[in-house]
Amino acid sequence: MLDLMPIPVVDNHCHPMYRDQQLDVPRLRRLFTEASSTDFANKHMPNSVHYLWAIRQMARFYGCPATEQDVVVAHNSRSPETLLADLAKAANIGTLILDTGYPLPEESYTPEQMSQTGSCHTAKLLRLETLMQDLIVAHADFDEIVARFAATVRNTREQGYSGLKSIVAYRTGLQIRHWSKDDAVKSFTEARSQAISQGKLRIAHKPLLDYLLHIAFEQAAEQRLPVQFHTGYGDSDTDLRLGNPLHLRDIMADPAYQSMPIVLLHESYPYSQFGAYLAAIYPQVYFDLSYTIPFVDKLEMLAFTRQAISVAPASKLVYSTDGIYIPEMYWIGALRARSVLGQVLQEMIDADEIDEEQAYHLARWILHDTAREVYRLQEV
Ligand SMILES: [Zn+2]
Repeated sequence: MLDLMPIPVVDNHCHPMYRDQQLDVPRLRRLFTEASSTDFANKHMPNSVHYLWAIRQMARFYGCPATEQDVVVAHNSRSPETLLADLAKAANIGTLILDTGYPLPEESYTPEQMSQTGSCHTAKLLRLETLMQDLIVAHADFDEIVARFAATVRNTREQGYSGLKSIVAYRTGLQIRHWSKDDAVKSFTEARSQAISQGKLRIAHKPLLDYLLHIAFEQAAEQRLPVQFHTGYGDSDTDLRLGNPLHLRDIMADPAYQSMPIVLLHESYPYSQFGAYLAAIYPQVYFDLSYTIPFVDKLEMLAFTRQAISVAPASKLVYSTDGIYIPEMYWIGALRARSVLGQVLQEMIDADEIDEEQAYHLARWILHDTAREVYRLQEV
């Protein structure tokens, strides 16, 4: 079996952990499903393979019996800081690239705190839809919002961000169109009145959202700034039909955006073959292999990992966990990734597709080098 432990992972997409780390069994169950109802988590998590596996791994790490209650007690007895540091060390986590758009900043550790306590590097991403919403709540004039939005995106790197993130798949879908300014203004008027009447905004106004995204893409292309797109698997808020990465064709083929690196998140599950294919065809497209969320078992992970490496160069594949809430999420994803990737590369050695040295070379790209290049990370 290939030993991939010496490669420090760059987790190119994850989220900050909660400040409040106290768990009970129902809360633990809710962390391991994208289904929003508590009843769902309570009834079905004990019957979900990925969850049963995670409980056993955590119990092994803590040295406690493999029951949910024992795992919760062991987790609660450790300080969050020590736990993050121990887990990051145990999984040889080099860098966490954090989408700070979720959970809310007041509930979460900052990237700086996570870097300090976890003794690992962190980088952060600017979530475009959050920026749009904040601007629309704060300002009444369309032109002013557009100007402020463009200026913020133009200064992404200066503000300490390594890239952009879009959740348009969750809102109006990946088929991002060109709209006239008139259409965008009309759409803005609706969004703005929602913002005024509710004091906040959930932007799902397609002409406006698409219009602002194109402004962000122009800036990103100019600066060669990577843009992560949520694709595929998500909670019930997403219309999975519109999360198929094939919908991004117009953006990928647009001559104006060829210098904008695009990262398709969450292996576009269950559209994994489509996403990996896109990374094999478009020079600026990268495919993310995420090993904590989507919540699937090892056999499914072996399948999408094989599909990705079979069609796309390893220098077009990036590793992530989509870890969130508790530090164990970053750690179990790294365990999974090394075991799954090791097994798939070993199969490829056995099939005489590659030799062992080449297998390590490919693993290094996927777990570390591709992300370092795409996000221009200096320290790792
Ligand atoms: Zn995420």
